[in-house]
Amino acid sequence: MIEKTILVIEDNEMNMKLMRAVMAMGKFRMLEASNADTGIRLAREHRPDLILMDIQLPDMDGLSAARIIKENPLLREIPIIAVSGYAMHSDREKALEAGCIGYITKPFNVKELIQIIRECVYTNTVQQ
Ligand code: MN
Repeated sequence: MIEKTILVIEDNEMNMKLMRAVMAMGKFRMLEASNADTGIRLAREHRPDLILMDIQLPDMDGLSAARIIKENPLLREIPIIAVSGYAMHSDREKALEAGCIGYITKPFNVKELIQIIRECVYTNTVQQ
């Protein structure tokens, strides 16, 4: 299988560590950003196959960052999955409105997340 690149935008070091483990297990290439600004820059520079976007980031919220990416014609095809620390129906709605393809809540199941990422990058569908 062709190696896929996943951009993880996450400001919490513990969560980033967990994401590193997920990416290693799933054999994905991982790009890391700890704030939205860096994340958007890395998206422009590398055009990853998928973005996992934390909703709460230090410089702007992840959904605003998702909108900026979706407004860029060169980047709008990149699927974005929002990652949230709290599960509220309205957040899921907001994530989908912002152009995200899916929405997952922390703490997530590692195997399930790998499966979701695989579905997303290899078949372009995600059931979330
Ligand atoms: Mn956060």
